[in-house]
Amino acid sequence: MAKILVFAEHNSGTVKGVTFEILGKLSSHTLEVVAFDGLSDDGVAELGKHGATTIHKIKGEGLDTYSPEGYANALKEVISSGSYDYVFAGSTSLGKDLFPRVAGMFDAGMISEVVEINFDGETFKGTRPLFAGKVLATVELDGPKPHFVTVRPNSIGMPDSAAGGSANVVDVTGNAGSIRAVVNEIIKGASEKLDLTEASIIVSGGRAMKNSDNFKILHEMADVLGATVGASRAAVDSGYADHSMQVGQTGKTVAPTLYIACGISGAIQHLAGMRTSKVIVAINTDPDAPIFQKADYGIVGDLFKVVPVLTEELKKLMN
Ligand SMILES: Cc1cc2nc3c(=O)[nH]c(=O)nc-3n(C[C@H](O)[C@H](O)[C@H](O)COP(=O)(O)OP(=O)(O)OC[C@H]3O[C@@H](n4cnc5c(N)ncnc54)[C@H](O)[C@@H]3O)c2cc1C
Repeated sequence: MAKILVFAEHNSGTVKGVTFEILGKLSSHTLEVVAFDGLSDDGVAELGKHGATTIHKIKGEGLDTYSPEGYANALKEVISSGSYDYVFAGSTSLGKDLFPRVAGMFDAGMISEVVEINFDGETFKGTRPLFAGKVLATVELDGPKPHFVTVRPNSIGMPDSAAGGSANVVDVTGNAGSIRAVVNEIIKGASEKLDLTEASIIVSGGRAMKNSDNFKILHEMADVLGATVGASRAAVDSGYADHSMQVGQTGKTVAPTLYIACGISGAIQHLAGMRTSKVIVAINTDPDAPIFQKADYGIVGDLFKVVPVLTEELKKLMN
């Protein structure tokens, strides 16, 4: 049984889903959680239910808003105090920014973007995609502990049940140290919906959308499904969608349960960002579009006819 610390990232108190995916998968190990101040009572209770025995809640000057240096310095203190074997976090935008820095402070190994977690006794053996998802590598870490691992959101899946108890909350006064790069402002993204990397359903539009107004039909379907809207690079470059919505090699890497590609050809660079989606549905007028080779379900047809009909049928099903 390994001793593991999990970083619980939260958004205004609400813990990000990937934290529960990680805790659920690691439930046979000794689990502690570290989070920055602002965690809601519900969040604390949920973390306990998902197996956290202790939650280290860090509060301190300079730690009200995220800064990579301040968070890393404060995390270092907690990590050093616990003789952990592994420290896990979500491979979110923040996790990707923060964790290489923290691992560097310990001169320790790190594996990022893990999509499968396995243990051989106390030794972690993970799987991570390489070469834009064309290869899956089995990876393990060597050298001084703790080792650091970030997990791609939605890749492990939520645990079926949460049978833990309540966690012991320890308040920690964090020391942000000297912060050279200060975050002055956080500007909200174009969408109020869940970030693409965390969404379990994504409806994406490509160049075939023709303009930004037409994305309205995708938003209508997304509202019915509780989905987030994404886009191909061609749609983004044409000004139909914001860059924060881009899926692919130079956009976001997503792994939702359901990915609906509307008027997207399926270029290799787009597939690189969504090929690990559990179920892929493609709507395209061209029966030979490469996206159909990757799709689990394909509709050959005009998206402007198919999407509104699907939305109406989904409304009936969801009611
Ligand atoms: C270095 C590099 C990085 C890149 N990074 C990315 C990236 O991150 N993400 C990304 O997406 N691309 C990326 N690209 C671009 C990529 O190569 C493709 O050009 C792009 O994905 C094409 O977008 P698309 O499928 O929307 O457009 P198109 O390839 O033009 O496809 C449009 C599709 O819509 C179909 N269609 C047309 N009308 C309709 C209709 N009415 N109903 C239904 N279907 C219709 C067509 O049959 C066609 O298949 C990158 C390219 C390079 C070189």
